[in-house]
Amino acid sequence: MYDNNNIFAKIIDGKIPCKKIYEDDDTLFFEDINPVSKVHILGIPKVKCVDFSDFVTNYSQDVVSNFFQKVDEVIVKLGIRESGYRIISNSGVDGGQEVPHFHIHILGGETIGAKIR
Ligand code: AMP
Repeated sequence: MYDNNNIFAKIIDGKIPCKKIYEDDDTLFFEDINPVSKVHILGIPKVKCVDFSDFVTNYSQDVVSNFFQKVDEVIVKLGIRESGYRIISNSGVDGGQEVPHFHIHILGGETIGAKIR
């Protein structure tokens, strides 16, 4: 069940500010407020989905494909495609998910090593 009051829903609605990296009608990418690496960006689709499984199960292939294409475009824009990066999506209790709106962490700008988010 999607929580309309989650913090990323408020960011999409402009009720809470964010440091925007890229935005279009369907996606938003912004800096994580508590970065764990030199580059730490969050990417979200502007649909009401709780986590990865919800997203890929309940939205069309076009919507899903477009989102992941934008993730790659942002990786290029961030200048970390050649140096490397890590993308992570936490889900549920065991995944340590804090915000119940599907999001991708993009980590890079340095060697990530064993550091996980
Ligand atoms: P997760 O544990 O995968 O749900 O990660 C949620 C992420 O959201 C954490 O890395 C937080 O630092 C980040 N976060 C929480 N609130 C904000 C906010 N207002 N702006 C940017 N990032 C946020």
